[in-house]
Amino acid sequence: MGVTDDEVRELVRRLLDISLDTAERDDLARATALNAKLKSFCSHVDMRIARRGTELHGQGSSESGMGVLLNNGNGSERDARAAIDRNRACGAFPGFDAALDAGDVSGEHLDVLARHTRQLNDQERSELAAEADELVRSATGGTTSMFERRLKERINAIKARANPNADVDLLERQRAQSKITRRTDPVTGMKTTVVDLDPLRDSTAHNVIAAHLARLRQDPATKDLPFAQLQVMAFMNAVTGQTAGTSADSSDGSVESDEADEPGSTIGVGVPEVSIHMDARTACEGRHADTMCETQDGDPIPVATAQRLCCEAVITTVIVEADGTIRRLVEERTANRRQRRALAAMYATCAHPHCRVPFSQCRIHHIVWWSKGGPTALDNLVPLCSQHHHQVHEGGWNLSMTPDRHLTWLRPDGSVWLAHRSTNRRPPAGEESRRRRRANAA
Ligand SMILES: [Zn+2]
Ligand SMILES: [Zn+2]
Repeated sequence: MGVTDDEVRELVRRLLDISLDTAERDDLARATALNAKLKSFCSHVDMRIARRGTELHGQGSSESGMGVLLNNGNGSERDARAAIDRNRACGAFPGFDAALDAGDVSGEHLDVLARHTRQLNDQERSELAAEADELVRSATGGTTSMFERRLKERINAIKARANPNADVDLLERQRAQSKITRRTDPVTGMKTTVVDLDPLRDSTAHNVIAAHLARLRQDPATKDLPFAQLQVMAFMNAVTGQTAGTSADSSDGSVESDEADEPGSTIGVGVPEVSIHMDARTACEGRHADTMCETQDGDPIPVATAQRLCCEAVITTVIVEADGTIRRLVEERTANRRQRRALAAMYATCAHPHCRVPFSQCRIHHIVWWSKGGPTALDNLVPLCSQHHHQVHEGGWNLSMTPDRHLTWLRPDGSVWLAHRSTNRRPPAGEESRRRRRANAA
């Protein structure tokens, strides 16, 4: 139910009763709440003007709804456009119309709704409209950013129902659209570098920068510098690969590389930690209605991608109570240094039979996925380059391995593509000749 005329008058009267210039804190809180209700009411009026203006425009008796708002008010083009967009969103999600009128949600909530539902197809929009009551409830009295989060979650769930690969496709698109642009300010001569990244690589990059920043803030030589300077130094250290005087075995969660063990191999790339927040049920069973699978900043990422990251990661299991407090925190590091050395002795390259990517650039894959209870034991580990690691996790291929390391590749439909002996490092020369001597003696 919207507000009645009497209620609006009452709102205004109570607001005018508060003398803002001398008010105490509680009065300011009251004034803010009253004003928010009034603003919602005014937004609703603008929206109805837009609606009626559009109708009249259709009958040929008025300029457009947008024109009415622009010609007669003192608002900006943006405000007028917002009223039009809010009206359109209310058309598809009627509950919001009444909620705005009642002052339960703000015009900005409707902007969020309009922004995120614009690109939905008809099927997706009608599925979301079926959840309109729940959406109104989640918007009521909450901030727009909380509402935006909830809305995005629901839209992602709907897209995932229609196409289980939608999230993988989206991340691939975002990866493909990632780019770096660079320009110079003609006046100041300052350089601007803009890096457009998919959420996963963005999160990875910022974790590295944050780790450098944390070191610089503890370093007596730098800790008193202005924060903006430290940020720039951390960024430069991350880009140039400097570790600012700390040992290679860093505490920032980097997984050790094996370059020291393997003369002649390409420099091993330290794998920086990226933090993924995923609920246990999603980790074990895959996506469900209330899946959480997102970066630290709350950007959703595909479950298949999170599973791939689980293969070589520091996994922190956090058990959260219903009230949001933490009961237990368990950290485990997968594929330790000794296991990587053992694997390096058996594999010179990725375990894929047609692949030449060197071991040092490979990820250690759990044949039975870590999230499905697969142990971090040699019998369950093989090195895969990032392309083949992707093929397995995001591409839906499956691997199985016998104790003598014969590897079977199963296509996504379950049929066998190839079974082969997976180890691909030549045995050391000494071993060869000993074996030959034994053969000769026999
Ligand atoms: Zn894996
Ligand atoms: Zn490979």
